Amino acid sequence: MSGDRVRELVRAEVLAMRAYHAPPADGMVKLDAMESSWQLPDALRRDWLARLAEVEINRYPDPACAELKTRIREELGIEDAHGLVLGNGSDELIQMIALLVGGGGGGGGGRVLLSPAPSFSMYPLIAAAVGAQFEAAPLREDFALDRAAFCEAIRARRPACVFLAHPNNPSGNCFDEDAILEALALAPGLVVIDEAYFSFCHRSFLPRLKEFPHLLVLRTFSKSGLAGLRLGMLIGGAEWTEQLEKIRLPYNINSLTQCSAAFYLEHAELMRREAEACVARREKMFAQLAEMPGVRAYPSEANFILFRVNDAGETHRRLCARGVLIKNLHAAGTLLENCLRVSIGAETENRAFIKALGESLR
Ligand SMILES: *Cc1c(COP(=O)(O)O)cnc(C)c1O
Repeated sequence: MSGDRVRELVRAEVLAMRAYHAPPADGMVKLDAMESSWQLPDALRRDWLARLAEVEINRYPDPACAELKTRIREELGIEDAHGLVLGNGSDELIQMIALLVGGGGGGGGGRVLLSPAPSFSMYPLIAAAVGAQFEAAPLREDFALDRAAFCEAIRARRPACVFLAHPNNPSGNCFDEDAILEALALAPGLVVIDEAYFSFCHRSFLPRLKEFPHLLVLRTFSKSGLAGLRLGMLIGGAEWTEQLEKIRLPYNINSLTQCSAAFYLEHAELMRREAEACVARREKMFAQLAEMPGVRAYPSEANFILFRVNDAGETHRRLCARGVLIKNLHAAGTLLENCLRVSIGAETENRAFIKALGESLR
């Protein structure tokens, strides 16, 4: 039986995993995945397509991404002393970090990767995939970092890497900066600050790279209207990025992505303006949610809002029936009990969501 061979050969931690699943969203108001509703104005879109038409798709891409990296360094103000690694989404960069320091088996004795919980679902998934142990440090009930417990987890488990999403997904809040600094000072391994939502909150640990040589900062294009490009960025000390470059697959950033990202960076001002408009729509939606009976919304510094209802499963089903797709995060007996997460969309999408939610509560 080939099933026996699968069970015999595939690592136990992979057998125990479930593949990442994204529900179909055809024809729905799609507010489940923190995508941006923004697109380039038509004239610029034509310029972009003309630029893409020049790409020599028969050739391998530039494995060093030299031109794009120069543009990114300028845009982010990355100092020469610091390295920059590009990934096929920041997901791939998280995987590279885990491959770099992880492994050793999930059964005890292996390397530990630590993150608060709830946080980004890819951290435990990737830890399992590379055979590292994943340690989750529970957040407080209001999703703030439990400073004492988190620092104790670092002392006790001595993680090879700590992942902190800042702002956190799915809660939307930033953790207390002093608490993060204490964790940074304490951590015996790497600390990754995942700034996927930087455009919506403008708080960054990039200026702290000099101070903490074991700090790595992640950014992504995904939340700014370019989720389909798959481009993530890692910035950190050159001694770390040189090691990461060894395990990066040489052509992980395809030619179309390199060309497109460079083009979009020429119009970074448009993307910044759109992010600001998104923040304004978020504040409006937060006020609307806060007024709804039976809804508790959590303040967000990202492009989504977490909120709690009386029956998340039923509310989610009713929203789907009304053509609105958001994310159901409900897990009984956890901090996310009866929690739903909605991305901030375009004005019309947000209006459709608020109307449908009003009809879906009970
Ligand atoms: C969305 C998100 C990412 C982005 O992943 P990409 O692979 O770049 O699309 C990374 N970290 C967090 C916390 C996120 O929420």
